[in-house]
Amino acid sequence: KLHNTIQELKGNIRVFCRVRPLLTGENSSEEARTISYPTSLEALGRGIDLMQNGQKHCFTFDKVFVPSASQEDIFVEISQLVQSALDGYKVCIFAYGQTGSGKTYTMMGRPGNPEEKGLIPRCLEQIFRTRQSLRSQGWKYELQVSMLEIYNETIRDLLSTSKEAVRADNGVSPQKYAIKHDASGNTHVVELTVVDVRSSREVSFLLDHAARNRSVGKTAMNEQSSRSHFLFTLKITGFNESTEQQVQGVLNLIDLAGSERLSKSGSTGDRLKETQAINKSLSSLGDVIFALAKKEDHVPFRNSKLTYLLQPCLGGDSKTLMFVNITPEPSSTGESLCSLRFAARVN
Ligand code: ADP
Ligand code: MG
Repeated sequence: KLHNTIQELKGNIRVFCRVRPLLTGENSSEEARTISYPTSLEALGRGIDLMQNGQKHCFTFDKVFVPSASQEDIFVEISQLVQSALDGYKVCIFAYGQTGSGKTYTMMGRPGNPEEKGLIPRCLEQIFRTRQSLRSQGWKYELQVSMLEIYNETIRDLLSTSKEAVRADNGVSPQKYAIKHDASGNTHVVELTVVDVRSSREVSFLLDHAARNRSVGKTAMNEQSSRSHFLFTLKITGFNESTEQQVQGVLNLIDLAGSERLSKSGSTGDRLKETQAINKSLSSLGDVIFALAKKEDHVPFRNSKLTYLLQPCLGGDSKTLMFVNITPEPSSTGESLCSLRFAARVN
């Protein structure tokens, strides 16, 4: 019962920390090791400690996933949120962390290996399964997918079939991709492609399409995907023919831009502008979640495209989960500390 009380006090914001395994070629020496966490999955704990310059920093989250945690282990812990979306809640799941820390692995998984499927395909499979099993109780669900990217505070439609539309920004037409919220909490992005989906295969087709559209903007200098936020949105409309009940839920799955700091990337020019935009929108996201967690009267949603777009899905009775992805590599200790601090602030 005490557990319940703590959950109620905390509201609907959770933070899970996931430490990815060391990759081949990374420094695996015991002496260099700076992170300590529960040693086995069985001991799945809440604490993670980080040593930097002889100083120990301790953090506690709702859960800490060790490197041996599988994609299925992670999914088990979030499947309740997927059910909430089917029940009519608005849900946001974010992946936060420096480039290379495992955000995309967590969200999308490794292509070609079913065991390593990430959260997005697993969530959809659960939704289509549940939809099937609720049919006998009179429930009918309509599912609509949209996918977009926010790059330098500009929205790009990843499901557009025309290359121009993908590239167009608000400078081309002021109305294009303008964000509108209506009184009942629905969000509409002007001219954004929204697709009705009937199976997880259709969704994987759309994910492939989105991946191709993402790379349209890729320049030789940098990898687009780590410099932009990727947002997958599923609108769920359920109607029960016998009881005439209606539910409207939203599931947002967000692979955030890399959180690495300005200093390290040593940026100038366009790259500097890009990094500043990323830092601004990530810190705005932090400010919004922090204000919501503290139940402050003013929540600064309008400070970035990302938070404004997600406004109806953050706060209220919506549910938010943030993954903070960490690499155990000793050379990333500074970045990991920043990520853990960011996450601890919103937890
Ligand atoms: P990010 O999206 O944060 O930049 P990635 O998801 O691309 O990071 O991960 C970086 C690399 O680490 C990729 O090669 C990915 O396959 C690998 N990786 C990340 N997390 C895991 C994990 N839990 N298990 C195995 N490999 C992982
Ligand atoms: Mg990535």
